[in-house]
This record gives sequence, structure tokens and C-alpha cells, in this order.
Amino acid sequence: MIKHTLICALALGLAASSPRAAAQDAYDFYRGATFPPPRDAPAAWLAELHKADDLLGANIAVATFLPNTRLAWHNHPAGQILIITDGVGYYQEQGQTRQIVRRGDVIKCLPGVQHWHGAAVESAFSYIAISPAQKGPTVWAQPVTDEEYRSPARDRRTAKPARKSGASSQAKLLAADTTFPFEVSSTSLGRGARLPWHKDGGGQILIVTDGAGYFQEREQQKHLLRKGDIVENARDTEHWYGAASEIDATFLTITPVSEAGTKWLTKVTDEEYRANATIYVKHGE
Ligand code: MN
Repeated sequence: MIKHTLICALALGLAASSPRAAAQDAYDFYRGATFPPPRDAPAAWLAELHKADDLLGANIAVATFLPNTRLAWHNHPAGQILIITDGVGYYQEQGQTRQIVRRGDVIKCLPGVQHWHGAAVESAFSYIAISPAQKGPTVWAQPVTDEEYRSPARDRRTAKPARKSGASSQAKLLAADTTFPFEVSSTSLGRGARLPWHKDGGGQILIVTDGAGYFQEREQQKHLLRKGDIVENARDTEHWYGAASEIDATFLTITPVSEAGTKWLTKVTDEEYRANATIYVKHGE
């Protein structure tokens, strides 16, 4: 028994001491993207998923940090939404207690508020950042000191885990407001599950954050989507998406507010669901 416990402890120790492996897993998220290291964080990578455009006036990027790495103090003139997708990290606003943030947490960082974020001491860390672009780029300040990095902290945990294994569920992560005029949700679908045909009056951006799924627009081929794929669905375009037949899927949806909202149409038939899928390639186009 003691021996068994020791082996377990060793196994855990080994896992914890393989930050590169953890980063590699996160790296898979952005197949085909390039990795300019962000300022002041040599052991971090940033991949752009979406450039602000007419559909969504915000940039979307994935950031991944090795353990014990952090960004400098900074602020975003138009604010920023952070959605933690992997690991454990820290977030702190000036004058506030440092927060420990985990996969599933959502941070609404208001315009001009000085803050920093980075990985925990012992964990790699990834998040999706949604940054409204209309007021210019990030404003950088002084580095985060070791004292600040290790200052007293509290757990954040604003969001519950988005899924129970195999079940379909939706978690609303962010309600739209005037600063961030889009809604963010996470939808987890068990293998074989699918949403009906529908259209979104303001269009929608879909990011696969786990597993694999299908996506199809009316009169178009069905696509196989994999973790890290991003789909920009134009306004009022009929489409459906769902989990793959053998793998569960989690979709992050970013939905710009619109008068018309979402209009639900007919169910996706088994025949439609089983149609041949082509692998979706957005990156590297
Ligand atoms: Mn930030």
C-alpha cells in the first residue's frame, strides 16, 4: 500500500514537472498558427484566431503560458474578456487581491483598468482573449515583481464547469452589455448530439475548445471541426453544428447582439448528420 502511494506520488510529481508537455497539449489548439512571443513573457505564445471585422469588432486570440510566467502590468483601452481554457493562472487588478483562476473562469476586464495575468507557479495556463479593437492596442507598463506575483490570493471560480461527461449542456459565460456587445456561451454536446438548423441575426463565431464536431451551412458540405478550429458564421445564414459521432464536443460561441436574435428551424435528420464530412481548414488559408 505504501509502495502504491509512493508510485502515485511519483507519477503526480512527474506530471507536474512536465510543463512542456502541458504546453504542447495547449499548442495543439492552434494548429497552423504562428507564435510571436508576447512582450515580457518569453515562455508564452499568442495565436490570433480572429481579426476585428464587420461581424465582430474585437480581436480574438489564444494565449498559452508555461508555469511561472506572467505578463507585465497593462490595460486595454476598450477592455478585454478572458475565458480560461486550460490550467491554472493568476489575475490581478491594481489595488485588488490577486486571484487564482482556473479552466472555465471568465474575467471581464473593464476599459483602462490596470492589471496583469499569467500562469500559476506549477501549472501551464491558457485562455481565449476577446479584445474590442475600436480604441487601440494594449498599453504596457512596468513588470510584475516577484512580491506581487506571490502576494496573498483568493480563488475566483465565477463559472461552474461547463459539462458533465456525455451530457449536453449550455453555460452562459457572459451577458452582452454596452462595453462588450456580444454574448459568450459554452455548449457541450455528447457524441451524436446536434443542434437544429438555425440562423443568428447578428452572425456568430464558433470556437471548438474540446473534442470534435460537425458544422454545415445550407447547400454547403458538412465539415469536421477539431479542437482549435474557429468558424465565422455570417448573419442570417442557415446552419447547424453538433458533436461528432464518436467524440464529444465543446463549442465556445460568441454572438453579437442583434434585433432578430436566433431563429430555430427544422431538426437535422440522421441522413444529414451522417453525410460525408470534409476536414475544416481555416488556419493556413
Ligand atoms: Mn489583459
